[in-house]
Amino acid sequence: MTARPSVGAATRVLGVIGDPVAHSRSPAMHNAAFAALGLDWIYVAFPVPRGHGEAAARAIRDLGLAGLNVTMPHKADAARACDELTADAAALQAVNTVVAREDGSLLGASTDGEGFVRALAEEGVVLGPRRRVVVLGAGGAARAIAHAVGTVGGELTVAARRPDEAAAVAALAPAATSVALDTLSVAAFDVVVNATPIGMGGELPPFDVDQLHATQFVFDTVYSVDTLLLQAARARGAGAAGGLGMLVHQGALAFRMFTGQDPPLEVMRAAAAS
Ligand code: NAP
Repeated sequence: MTARPSVGAATRVLGVIGDPVAHSRSPAMHNAAFAALGLDWIYVAFPVPRGHGEAAARAIRDLGLAGLNVTMPHKADAARACDELTADAAALQAVNTVVAREDGSLLGASTDGEGFVRALAEEGVVLGPRRRVVVLGAGGAARAIAHAVGTVGGELTVAARRPDEAAAVAALAPAATSVALDTLSVAAFDVVVNATPIGMGGELPPFDVDQLHATQFVFDTVYSVDTLLLQAARARGAGAAGGLGMLVHQGALAFRMFTGQDPPLEVMRAAAAS
């Protein structure tokens, strides 16, 4: 790894906006990638209060930033600041990446869904027709994953504690269905995805884990701990992976959009995990 040149007037600046944002792994991932490629770029975390996401994204132009990543709660607000959205971002009306283009316009993208698909592929799990996928949750991660599953032709069910929210997420994928979380039975699914924060604090999964079995794969978007869900899946012979791969791939996709360079994936993975 080469050392990053010291910060100067020519240094390109990128960052992530969120509230809170101090926990974000993105600065570590991107700065490690810049150092590995010898790029005079720097990536910082901007704590931006709720309600100020659109203004912060618009400020990209005036501040001469190369772009921004966007995390909760600003993903929909930042989308409104963009001149153009990628197809995924347009479907979700939310962005996690805003790129400043040379003509001064802002391109918004959502790389979480593709990051999820790539993380699963890395585990040998290919999503597609006749693959029955259940996504738990109805927030930003669930929406991105649901749309991605629909895009690759998977058979989607969305399970959330608020049925109306589950139905709204299911509407992002063709022929998807929704169920109330407290009625969920997971035995019939090929892939089980937790897109809620359940498990971050050591909580039990919100369904009967004795229904998990060896032909299934369980993906937990939580990446900070080895959740009880993942432990239960492994104990029953199911495949299991935490959210680190998704985090790394969504970041790598954004890195390519920001810099135009191939992301050093393993450098970013090591930085995200540390
Ligand atoms: P979010 O927009 O706040 O949505 C959270 C969802 O989880 C909501 O549907 C919420 O339901 C549900 N939920 C929360 N606590 C619950 C509980 N005790 N029981 C049932 N449902 C519950 O959050 P998000 O951005 O989607 O993030 C969700 C998780 O994904 C987080 O753990 C986050 O760290 C992770 N994530 C990972 C990646 C990655 O790259 N690995 C990327 C994005 C997010 P209500 O609306 O009813 O509260």
